[in-house]
Amino acid sequence: MKQTSQFAEAFPALNQHVGDKPLVYLDSAATTQKPQCVIDAVEHYYENDNANIHRGVHQLSMRATKAYEGARSKVASLLGAQSSDEIIFVRGATEAINLVAQAWGRPRLGAGDEVLITEMEHHSNIVPWQLLCEQTGAALKVASVHDDGSLDVDSFKELLGEHTAVAAFAHVSNAIGTVNPVKELCELASAAGAVTIVDGAQATGHMKVDVQSMGCDFYATSGHKMFGPTGIGCLYGKHALLEEMEPWQGGGDMILSVSFEETTWNKVPFKFEAGTPNIAGAIGLGAACDYISGIGYDAIQEVEHELLAYGTDVLSNIDGVTLIGTARQKCAILAFTVDGVHPHDVGTICDHEGVAIRTGNHCAEPLMHRFGLSATCRASLSIYNSPADIDALATAIRKAITMLG
Ligand code: PLP
Repeated sequence: MKQTSQFAEAFPALNQHVGDKPLVYLDSAATTQKPQCVIDAVEHYYENDNANIHRGVHQLSMRATKAYEGARSKVASLLGAQSSDEIIFVRGATEAINLVAQAWGRPRLGAGDEVLITEMEHHSNIVPWQLLCEQTGAALKVASVHDDGSLDVDSFKELLGEHTAVAAFAHVSNAIGTVNPVKELCELASAAGAVTIVDGAQATGHMKVDVQSMGCDFYATSGHKMFGPTGIGCLYGKHALLEEMEPWQGGGDMILSVSFEETTWNKVPFKFEAGTPNIAGAIGLGAACDYISGIGYDAIQEVEHELLAYGTDVLSNIDGVTLIGTARQKCAILAFTVDGVHPHDVGTICDHEGVAIRTGNHCAEPLMHRFGLSATCRASLSIYNSPADIDALATAIRKAITMLG
């Protein structure tokens, strides 16, 4: 395995020092770094095409509209959607899930209905459903997780039933990297008559997603976790479901006509995009899709699998380090604790060594409780990482153990 990543050069932010140490960025699950092509696409829009979209008849507006709608097509094709109409631009996975909870769930759910999630969800795939349950009288059910961090599919099956209106689950856990059997879960939930929403925030930067073969009804993702800008993401929804849904927010662009007596809605997907959207963000996300397609998910997976295997081996061989989450199906996320050293102290010592990791509950407090922990350290990898980065992490952890363990 090469000591440096052939992909790192494309990411300008990686080429810097933190203090006197070269930066080792191991926090891609929080947000990935951005390749130059994405930065250029955003800059190009602001420097050349900056105008509002859809309503302008002048050249700049038409160019901006073309680039924005072009980005929608790129996302649709990356996710395997049937048509670009099935892609709604939102702020990120959080907004996508809230949109489904409120626009699909709220008018349809009531007392006696159930929402099924799992113990490994990010707070953004828990709290919107808790709000919905409070608003409608529906009940929240939670499928459990095995000790190795894999989903207990039997518990998911047991909790599924005629009352399950929605099943919402992560494609990949942000806290421990588990990859869930989403196709199987969608099949089970659909057979029980539930609508499915898959939280793909941690998947689309790392693995091929095909929403049609997966069979999900909705799929949520965040641009900034797949090399795109912050503040942009998308919700995939099956066309028929989107058609049935009422708008979520009201405002400009989501209407066909407005009068004080009657207002009619624009067609899907515009019905769900009220107000001026994050045009530059969408264009940047389109460039990120091109970047991913240019490399190919097979190549991404190959690099990340090797890194995960190497990182698992290196960390397992440090006395006092315990890996949290060792499911067989995993993405390149290494969550761990260090005996006698608080995760925040490990994180701070890593930072002094130039190594950026994340510490805390990773917005997955219930999962931390499941493992009897309040916090872990998390190193999350991407294509720009190398074995040398993992060696730097190991050196920093050993230092933390020597100083504080
Ligand atoms: N779901 C998962 C699994 C995540 O990891 C995250 C963010 O870390 C989210 C949802 C929320 O994403 P965003 O904050 O981009 O909306």
